[in-house]
Amino acid sequence: MDDKAMLMIPGPTPVPERALTALGKHPIGHRTGEFSALIGEVNAGLQWLHQTKNDVLTLAASGTGAMEAGIINFLSAGDRVLVGSNGKFGDRWVQVAQAYGLNVEVIDAEWGKPLDPEAFRAALEADTNKEIAAVILTHSETSTGVLNDLGAIVAHIKAHSKALSIVDAVTSLGAYDLKVDELGLDVVGSGSQKGYMIPPGLGFVAVSNKAWDAYERATLPRFYFDLGKYRKTAAKNSTPFTPPINLYFALHAALQMMQDEGLEAIFARHDRLKRATRAAVKAMGLPLFGADECASPAITAVAPATVKAEDVRARMNKKFDIALAGGQDHLKGQIFRIGHLGFVADRDVLTAIGALESVLVELGHDGATPGAGIAAAAAVFKAS
Ligand SMILES: *Cc1c(COP(=O)(O)O)cnc(C)c1O
Repeated sequence: MDDKAMLMIPGPTPVPERALTALGKHPIGHRTGEFSALIGEVNAGLQWLHQTKNDVLTLAASGTGAMEAGIINFLSAGDRVLVGSNGKFGDRWVQVAQAYGLNVEVIDAEWGKPLDPEAFRAALEADTNKEIAAVILTHSETSTGVLNDLGAIVAHIKAHSKALSIVDAVTSLGAYDLKVDELGLDVVGSGSQKGYMIPPGLGFVAVSNKAWDAYERATLPRFYFDLGKYRKTAAKNSTPFTPPINLYFALHAALQMMQDEGLEAIFARHDRLKRATRAAVKAMGLPLFGADECASPAITAVAPATVKAEDVRARMNKKFDIALAGGQDHLKGQIFRIGHLGFVADRDVLTAIGALESVLVELGHDGATPGAGIAAAAAVFKAS
């Protein structure tokens, strides 16, 4: 059926009508007072969302552009960096760091398992000359649905080193209570098509004062993503280059919606969606990929044994117009992933679970009574 498509993937995420309407407006000049006022409000909203007093800079880029900006502005070729990797996006950090000639030491964990904070402590303690310039990691590893223990890892950085913390928060920002200032995070990257509830095209980088000091010493080449330019213009409610004006309209609308809902309610909603989804998956007799203790609030990965993950995805799409995500790299065909990030309500999870139960019946999955998933999700919603 036309126009019934439902995105249950971890980006792009569903877009509310208020943001869609804002996208459809005529662009205005980006050097006008009207746009300047909008930038001022957007920047204040971004600081609120990041729980920071520091600059949050907006780039015309996807999340990876924000990650790259987070490297090239604060480091120099040959710098020693510790990179945590337990999935596709951790691997991407490694690739970006290597592409720029950094001296990369990887702390890895099996895909589906969280990074071990103790491994960071050991590596930082062993660095007696304090040469490690940055610790780089992904908070919510979207490829596996694992949330890393950022608080514990950052505590080890603070206790044992002078390194910057550079964090991919693309699927935790706007879903999880990420207190950027309280944790003392230095560089935090994110992207518009995830928790922000708007289409792809904007990347965001939050930068601490300590990171700005490092910016002065950093010698990697930078031009379009030179964050100093963005900082200078942000102070005047402006941008260094022509911004995607209509995406700013949408961002302005989405941030207002988030402020109306409130941070606590947003985090509670994501936590509830996560618990309902996981309870339903278990009740349907499907194995979860990744433990409850390290489950991402944005995405739930499922590793079915009795049916093929790609068959589930194909039927969900064809029969119900619901898009689920597949596995990436070696997990292709092994898992499917249910996104519950951004503009997602209890009703959406019930819809997806109901459709999934119907697909499981079709595929001949035994091991669960149809309806058990819905009942489990409903029990979570009743209790919260
Ligand atoms: C989506 C995502 C990104 C950014 O990917 P882009 O396609 O460049 O927007 C980075 N990290 C994580 C964890 C993500 O989920």
